Amino acid sequence: SLELRRLRKRFGAQDVVKSVDLCIKPGEFVTLLGPSGSGKTTTLNMIAGFEQPTGGEILADGKPISDLPTHRRNIGMVFQSYALFPHMTAAQNIAFPLRQRRVPKPEAEARVREALALVHLEKFADRYPKALSGGQQQRVALARAVVFNPRILLMDEPLGALDKKLREALQTEIRRIHRELGVTVVFVTHDQEEALTLSDRIAVFNDGRIEQAATAEELYERPATRFVADFLGDSN
Ligand code: ATP
Repeated sequence: SLELRRLRKRFGAQDVVKSVDLCIKPGEFVTLLGPSGSGKTTTLNMIAGFEQPTGGEILADGKPISDLPTHRRNIGMVFQSYALFPHMTAAQNIAFPLRQRRVPKPEAEARVREALALVHLEKFADRYPKALSGGQQQRVALARAVVFNPRILLMDEPLGALDKKLREALQTEIRRIHRELGVTVVFVTHDQEEALTLSDRIAVFNDGRIEQAATAEELYERPATRFVADFLGDSN
């Protein structure tokens, strides 16, 4: 499980995350949904270890992880910008986390092949990122994020740079991968339709706080606050 307890982040004089509590079950797909600037990315970055919390705790399977560096947290991450290494092929990009963890070469090669198959990119192993489409690059990033069997997969607007058709195709892929791997997913988006399609549960962010964390059905039928009702009512 992944638990956020009274998690806070302040940048200068600005409280960007204000006492966030959230408990995520193993294998659950939870989306952080909310307007721009509401603190979703900052929350994700604290889980990943890119930002140090100002206060509160992050627990994975009951143990605090806030003091561990990113690569010791057993967390995979996918960004909107793909963040692939341009001088490495698809296969080399996917192998990178395994090299970092000193996985022996034969095992690493087998795992890279499996990960390429998982995202249907077997034929593109030796291509460099610049010779791949946006959708293919994001599949490489996804394969790289799961190749070491992380217990948690974090995705920050991973489909934000793709057009509608590709976005829908990748949503289906992400659902399938989540199901096949049974990994816990925390997904950030400001697109409520995407949140509805993908998530077991949605945490609605507003101004550094979670207004409500619930299933899509509950959010619509019993919005806890005016903000939730208005935000969900808005873009439909
Ligand atoms: P978006 O969807 O636009 O990414 P978000 O909900 O993910 O929004 P955050 O990226 O977490 O929001 O940003 C929340 C606030 O924190 C913003 O006002 C942002 O300017 C501020 N912020 C984020 N990172 C830093 C930083 N390193 N230094 C100062 N302020 C920051």
